Amino acid sequence: MPTKKNQTTRPPIVTILGHVDHGKTSILDKIRSSNLQAKESGGITQNIGAYQVTHQGKAITFIDTPGHEAFEAMRSRGGQIADIAILVVAADDSVKPQTKESIKHIKKAKIPYLVAINKIDVPGINIAKVKTDLGELGEYLEGFGGNVPFVEVSAKTGEGLDKLLEVVLLLVELEELTDTSHKSPPTGVVLESQLHPNKGPLATLLVKQGIFTLKDPLYKDTKLIGKIRSLSLSSGELVQKAMPSTPIQIIGFKETPSTGDIISTKPSDLAQLKHIEKRKLKLDPEKPNIVIKAAVQGGLEAVLDRVKDNINLVSSSVGPVSGSDIDVATINNAQIVGFNSKISASVKKLAATEDVTFKNFSIIYHLFEHIDELSKEKKAPPPPKETAQIKIKKVFNIDGQVVFGGVVIKGKVSVGDLVENSKVVSLQSSKEKLEVVKKDQELGLILSPALDIKEEDIIITHSSNNKDQD
Ligand code: GDP
Repeated sequence: MPTKKNQTTRPPIVTILGHVDHGKTSILDKIRSSNLQAKESGGITQNIGAYQVTHQGKAITFIDTPGHEAFEAMRSRGGQIADIAILVVAADDSVKPQTKESIKHIKKAKIPYLVAINKIDVPGINIAKVKTDLGELGEYLEGFGGNVPFVEVSAKTGEGLDKLLEVVLLLVELEELTDTSHKSPPTGVVLESQLHPNKGPLATLLVKQGIFTLKDPLYKDTKLIGKIRSLSLSSGELVQKAMPSTPIQIIGFKETPSTGDIISTKPSDLAQLKHIEKRKLKLDPEKPNIVIKAAVQGGLEAVLDRVKDNINLVSSSVGPVSGSDIDVATINNAQIVGFNSKISASVKKLAATEDVTFKNFSIIYHLFEHIDELSKEKKAPPPPKETAQIKIKKVFNIDGQVVFGGVVIKGKVSVGDLVENSKVVSLQSSKEKLEVVKKDQELGLILSPALDIKEEDIIITHSSNNKDQD
C-alpha cells in the first residue's frame, strides 16, 4: 500500500445514522452500486453487513447495518469501530427524534461526522430549515455559524454522492488512522452472522488489527471455534489475506458467533480474564471499585495481598490492559490500577471514550498510597454544609410539641435541614408556614426528634443532602 503523505494507512470505517426513512439504506445502496471495486471476476456481490468502495483511488469501508442498536452494541463490545459517521437528514422531513438520538450516539463515540441532507430531488423542500433545526440542537453547519461539514444529496438521482465521499476522505485526512496490520493478535469484530444451510455458520467480520489469512485458526478468547476455510470480500472476491478495515466473510466456524464478538486468529490475552464475570458486582459503597492489573503474577499477588480488604476488587489479572478490562470497569464504575502494566493506544482510546481512569505505577508503595487515598475519600463523608445559624430566644411547649422560637442570624434554613441528627420538620414565621426562613427573620422551628436546646443557644443547621454530594 503506498504511503504518500496525507494518505491514511488504513481505510476509514464509516457508519451511517439518522431517522428512519430518511434514506440511509438508499444512500448506502447507491454508493455501493456506483463505486464497487470491479477488479474481480465472477464474484457475486454479497450483502455482508459492510462493504468497501474506492473513491479517487482510496478505499472507504461502509458499515452497512444502520441503526443505533447495532452501532451501540458494537461500540461497547468491540471498542470504537467507526472512524467517521454520516448523519442523514431528509430535506423534506428535517430533524426528527432519531436524528437527535443519532447525534447523541455520535457525541458519545467522539468521532467526527458530517451531515448528508438527503432527498434534495423532492420538489418544494426547505433545506434552510434543516440547517436551522440542527442549529437549534447546537449542531452548526459550515457556513451556518459552525464547522460541521454537510453535503446535499439525493440517493434517488445520485446527485451529491461523489461529493459526500470526497468530504469523507477530507475528514479522514485530519484523523490519524494508523496502520494496524502489524499488530498482534489479529482481531476482528463480528458485524453479522448466520447459520447457512449449506455452508454452515458464517460471519462477517471487520478486521480491526493484524492480518487474517486463509487457513488461520479462529479463536474467541482462548477457545478454538473454527478455522478459516474461505475468506471473501464484500465484492464476492475470494482472497488469501485481509488487511485492517476490510470487511470479510468467513466460512469455517464450528459455532455461529454473535454480533459484537471479538474473534482472533490467535488465542488472545482476553483469555486471562476468563475468571471475570462480565456482570455488575455487588459492591460495598464505602470502598473504591478497582480493577487490578499487573505485569507479572508475583506482582499481582503482592498488590492483592496488601489492598484486597480496602477495596471492591472488581477483577484482577496479569497482562496488558485489555478491552474487557475497560468493559468490566465501565460496568462497575471502577478505576483500573496497574502495576507495571501496559496499555495499547487503542485500549487507551477506548478508556477515554468510556471515561475509565487508568493509573499505572512502577513503584508498589506509590500504588498502595494511591489505593489508600481512594479508600479514605470513600470513607470520609463530605463535611456537612452549614445552611444557617439560629439564635434561640424561647422554647415553647405547644400541645406536647417542642417549638423553638428564635431568629436566623446567618444564612437561611430550610425544611429538611439537619441539626445534629435531628431534622427540621416545620418552619414558621409571623404565623405563616414557610419552607425557607432567611437571615434576620424571626422563626418558630420544630425538630424531630426534639433536641435539648436552651434559650440563648445558637444552633447550626446543615443541609441534609450531603450524602448525595460528590
Ligand atoms: P432508511 O430507513 O433511512 O434506511 O431509509 P430508506 O433508504 O429505506 O428510504 C426511505 C424511503 O425514502 C424509501 O422509500 C426511499 O425510496 C426514499 N428515498 C430515499 N432517498 C431518497 C431520495 O434521495 N429522494 C427521494 N425522492 N426518495 C428517497
